[in-house]
Amino acid sequence: MSVKSDMFLPVSTKLDLPETEARILEFWRETKAFEEGLKRREGSPPFIFYEGPPTANGLPGVHHVLSRMLKDIVCRYKSMCGFYVPRKGGWDTHGLPVEIAVERELGISGKEQIESFGIAEFNRRCRESVLRYEADWRRLTERIGYWLDMDHPYFTFDNTYIETVWSLLRKFWDGGLLYQGHKIVPYCPRCGTPLSSHEVSQGYEEVTEPSVTVKFALEDEPGAFILAWTTTPWTLPGNVALAVGADIVYVRVRQARDGREERYYLAKERLPQLEGEYTIEKEMKGRELAGRRYRPLFDFIDLAELAGKKAYYVCEADFVTTEDGTGVVHTAVMYGEDDYQLGLKLDLPQHHTVDPQGRFTTEVKPWAGRNVKEVEKDIREWLRGHGLLYREEMTTHSYPFCWRCDTALLYYAWKTWYIATTRYRDRMLEANRKVAWHPKEIGANRFENWLESNVDWALSRNRYWGTPLPIWRCESCGQDRCIGSIAELRKGQGVPDPLDLHRPHVDQITFRCAKCDGTARRVPEVIDVWFDSGSMPFAQWHYPFENADRFDSLYPADFISEGMDQTRGWFYTLMAIGVFVTGKSPYKHVLVNELILDKEGKKMSKSRGNVVDPDAILNQRGADARNAQEHGPVLCLIREYRRLRPLVPGAIEADAPGSMGALAPPYSGFGVSRLARRLRVDARRARDPGIRGRGPFELVCAPLPPAVLEIGRPRRQAGRLRYFVPLSRNRGPVAGALHPLRFRGASPEPRASGESRRAEERALVRLP
Ligand SMILES: [Zn+2]
Ligand SMILES: [Zn+2]
Repeated sequence: MSVKSDMFLPVSTKLDLPETEARILEFWRETKAFEEGLKRREGSPPFIFYEGPPTANGLPGVHHVLSRMLKDIVCRYKSMCGFYVPRKGGWDTHGLPVEIAVERELGISGKEQIESFGIAEFNRRCRESVLRYEADWRRLTERIGYWLDMDHPYFTFDNTYIETVWSLLRKFWDGGLLYQGHKIVPYCPRCGTPLSSHEVSQGYEEVTEPSVTVKFALEDEPGAFILAWTTTPWTLPGNVALAVGADIVYVRVRQARDGREERYYLAKERLPQLEGEYTIEKEMKGRELAGRRYRPLFDFIDLAELAGKKAYYVCEADFVTTEDGTGVVHTAVMYGEDDYQLGLKLDLPQHHTVDPQGRFTTEVKPWAGRNVKEVEKDIREWLRGHGLLYREEMTTHSYPFCWRCDTALLYYAWKTWYIATTRYRDRMLEANRKVAWHPKEIGANRFENWLESNVDWALSRNRYWGTPLPIWRCESCGQDRCIGSIAELRKGQGVPDPLDLHRPHVDQITFRCAKCDGTARRVPEVIDVWFDSGSMPFAQWHYPFENADRFDSLYPADFISEGMDQTRGWFYTLMAIGVFVTGKSPYKHVLVNELILDKEGKKMSKSRGNVVDPDAILNQRGADARNAQEHGPVLCLIREYRRLRPLVPGAIEADAPGSMGALAPPYSGFGVSRLARRLRVDARRARDPGIRGRGPFELVCAPLPPAVLEIGRPRRQAGRLRYFVPLSRNRGPVAGALHPLRFRGASPEPRASGESRRAEERALVRLP
């Protein structure tokens, strides 16, 4: 061989990407590439990024890979453009997900058992368990090349973090926006706590279950019944009234059933609800029916008698329609918002027939102590046996389930603490219009609609492992006070040392009531865990107790990125807190990714157990996987969301229609490499001025993992190892993809147009 061995390094003809990645990761580790890069950018214009905190009490799934990759792409890109991009990691540590995991470990379930186990020990275990998988998260984060400072993260369970959250709550309190109200809430009987609207919206499912048309016997007309329809037979023992529309036309019909002649009242438009032949005897307006009395449906319970109030009569209500059922609404004031409001207006009895565990109370004799959803069949049987069931049919409707434990939620009258977000809804809408959403539609439609239909934030949770609601109530006179700092808390009696702001320790602290000198104790509730994560722009810096002087340079974020489900989660809670506290949106640019779905097209989540292990995918062998790895997984963000799922290698199952990876036209049947090429072409077309904005995408088409992504090839040149960054527009999909996300107006662009040569120079990260 005449070739000198120091001129050319031996080149393997076999491409082994996992191995290449490992080498590059090792190189980064050795050279502290991330830390070094950050250090070199200090003093440059900042590009502020907020990391949405994951919960580390379970292993990360492949759906976490997607959003982490997107965050990384943008942060690297901006860093290469010359910005200083600090990336502080964080952990979401409180809340039901953690509690449920610990309940399972201990083999206990429900609040009674937790309390007999002991709150102190229970919470100690929650604290211990919550970071159990931190190491796995770190490993995955490193493996996919997501540069994030995980050595100095924020933890939502830290006293300092909680102190900031308290100070924010105090601001709401001082503004008169933190209040306690009796409201109908979506309530999880298993977890024993109400959920907020953004939590509920994550757990709707289509269910098919029997609905019933029930016969309410009129007092003054033997053999005549008012028909009412319901999909929730468990609310029937709580019935106190029947509502009709004043101007709706009702009819009385005669019908022979089971050899008996009976008369039924229902809306004329709803006659098709009747089974078999009938004769219309007369017509009347709803207001003519109002005031007529009927007998309680069940002979064992009389709520009028129990509460000493008038009940069981027909009344007018404006929410009654003839869209479904019989045009008569069965009213159970404790289990529906409209019902409750009507009950307030008419002073109907407010009496729970269901206990907080979702079981019937003792008054509901045949089913006392039993789960209300489980006895619905028995209720139907009872009604049938007593000749009060007109009809039973299967109905498909969308019903909310607990996003954590999958229990069917009940709408339930509950005393809850609220933040009056509706009072500044318009300010949120205004702030949102200044946010650049990618894709735009998410902000202009989905998020805007969400804000428009805003309801007050149901803040409190009747649970254990969470940020305690810092309100102390006087035992004697009921005066409330809200504590906004640790210094203020230390003025109370019985402050434990060391101070832990969690239950039950914080509950030992009492205050003298300023009004009557009585003793004030903390209310039992903790707060919604989403308030924790929504507070992170402030709490990660322990603002205002620290960093108050430089907070302006840390708020708002130039960029955040998470999955689409966060429009009702983190994107919202950031907005609701940020706008109230600072008057402006906490973020300028939001990059939203589609969710990765499982084979059945369902969202991946820990509680469903359908999470795909990213390691398996990242290390996979075999033809498909290799083919995929050649180009890396293709991440796609598209304007028409449902059209294309984000792809990851190993997840492509051509024979499973609807599976993650099955592609809709025009991409169906494409292999990964062809798809990547085609997406690139389409992306380029989409940038063509002639069709700009009408192309199918707002596209990010970027190859993962790091070997291909950021850092082309390490090259030896003049004795220095250089890492080349394919940055320019024409150099591969990464830059092409990132140009649509140029974040105009986010912050000054160090790079002027026409300077691409020099910019590329600057993008070269020279390492010793
Ligand atoms: Zn639950
Ligand atoms: Zn008092």
